[in-house]
Amino acid sequence: MNRRSFFQSVGTLIGAIALLPVVGRAEGRRGGSTAAAAGPQLVDPKDRQALSVNYVELNTTLKDKALQNPRSGVQFKDQKCKACAFYQHDKETSAAGKKAAPCQMPFAGGKMVSAEGWCSSWAKKA
Ligand code: SF4
Repeated sequence: MNRRSFFQSVGTLIGAIALLPVVGRAEGRRGGSTAAAAGPQLVDPKDRQALSVNYVELNTTLKDKALQNPRSGVQFKDQKCKACAFYQHDKETSAAGKKAAPCQMPFAGGKMVSAEGWCSSWAKKA
């Protein structure tokens, strides 16, 4: 390597290093804006895990009459996520136009459930 090509290589290397923070910020913005635009995620009622606990976004849409039983003295119509022991009221927000909060049950995987929803793990709030 002669002196001229050495300095060309060094120049190229310095240029590439100088661009790294710019590229990194652009990538960060891309990922960050996607995450921010996505907002809080709701449990998909069609998800396999949600189906396994009969989760519905509206308690009134549950079709299986055999599941619509009173529990702990609470009529089925009043068994909604917002009245469930696993609904995290302190984290309630709006997601996809619905009042929602994270559900502590493992099937939810940290996602939000609709305040008006229901699943077969419903338990009366203390
Ligand atoms: S466990 Fe409770 S809060 Fe969670 S989905 Fe079922 S009814 Fe809703």
